[in-house]
Amino acid sequence: MFWNKSVETMGPAELASHQLKKLKETVQQVQKIPFYRARFEEAGLRPEAIQSLDDLQKIPFTKKQDLRGGYPFGFLAVPLSKVVRIHATSGTTGKPTVVGYTRNDLETWSDLIARNLTMIGLGEGDVFQNSVNYGLFTGGLGLHAGAEKAGLTVVPAGTGNTRRQIEMIRDFGVTAIHCTPGYALHIAEVAEEMGVTLDSLKTGIFGAESWSETMRRELEDRLELSAYDSYGMSELFGPGVAFECPEKDGLHIWHDSYLVEIIDPKTGEVLGPEERGEMVVTPLVKEAMPLLRYRTGDITMLMEDGCVCGRMKKIARITGRSDDMLIIRGINVFPSQIEDVLLGLPEVGDQFMVYVDRKNHLDEMTIEVEMSREYFSGELQDLARIQKRVMGVLKDTLELRTTVRLVEPGSLPRFEGKTKRVIDRRGDLI
Ligand code: ADP
Ligand code: ZN
Repeated sequence: MFWNKSVETMGPAELASHQLKKLKETVQQVQKIPFYRARFEEAGLRPEAIQSLDDLQKIPFTKKQDLRGGYPFGFLAVPLSKVVRIHATSGTTGKPTVVGYTRNDLETWSDLIARNLTMIGLGEGDVFQNSVNYGLFTGGLGLHAGAEKAGLTVVPAGTGNTRRQIEMIRDFGVTAIHCTPGYALHIAEVAEEMGVTLDSLKTGIFGAESWSETMRRELEDRLELSAYDSYGMSELFGPGVAFECPEKDGLHIWHDSYLVEIIDPKTGEVLGPEERGEMVVTPLVKEAMPLLRYRTGDITMLMEDGCVCGRMKKIARITGRSDDMLIIRGINVFPSQIEDVLLGLPEVGDQFMVYVDRKNHLDEMTIEVEMSREYFSGELQDLARIQKRVMGVLKDTLELRTTVRLVEPGSLPRFEGKTKRVIDRRGDLI
């Protein structure tokens, strides 16, 4: 099923000419923002110099730091009176960035989300529970509007009170849910504690943080649903930027609305398909807050092959954000790698917390891991054996020695929004 078949299946030539037209418009639109006027001037670049898609590479990147410099409204290309809504980033990596939307922007955004929901077979007849924060976070009102547009019956559940969330799913016959993968796991956990099943639930839309294939299997098994990856970021409207189709092999990104480049994060060099790097996006449809070559910090690649569903080319699952990456004694570690290891070990649960310290000038990583209920009541010597085993598997995968501390099931914090897995205390000493 398609929401807008002719656009979603646009061929390469038509797509390129559409992108160029929109790129030229965007280059004009950003001239209303003092930051970009100054940028173009510094680079000795006139807006008219952008005459082909390749000319995009003449334009300097825009970084999160630049947006922070314009806090709160410095990046608006329209007067505030034309902005009908604002949202903000979650502030995962620092001061939040404020984003604005015109009335047109809200229509464009909800249309993109409607494409995604239709792509996975959702529409009229579905009852959709949106279990994310409804405040400044884009996933609340954003997905809500897209789901209404696609004809779903929306339950604006927000976050919190997990038992009540479970009751709502059961009472309203909810067929699809949207939340972070971490919170979905918590819902599964509480439902198990309550001794209830969520029979009506068929579809899970999980996003806002990176999650692995192992996590997908875990969620699909425990919640008995089909789990889809949803990617977005506030600066690019919010959710709806890229989304899995039923193939579940990469995410369709809407190239008519987002011009995608993958670069080497160190050198800025543009990489080819199937080469992993940082995704840089030039949104082509934003009115209130247009951006050029925005460095997302997210690591992925453009996939070469088309998809059986006929839609535009995909990007691979985001393996992490460059900011998430820990450098421990010179070795790169993503929290998602740790999660993947733990999910594969029956002795431990799926909750963990990483502490990084610097002792005698050396980085030390300690991981608190919840045991699985099944193994928790075991003998002490069993605990020592399990601890050793977890440390061994982590060492093999990460190529790094870590200390593992086993903790009681249910004792680590659960998160309704983005999961916080790392407490880096190295900076505290300086
Ligand atoms: P913040 O950048 O403060 O977290 P946002 O709420 O705008 O604010 O979050 C956007 C970021 O969330 C993305 O840049 C990306 O790192 C992460 N993210 C969103 N969806 C996914 C996903 N499906 N997989 C991996 N990471 C994701
Ligand atoms: Zn597809």
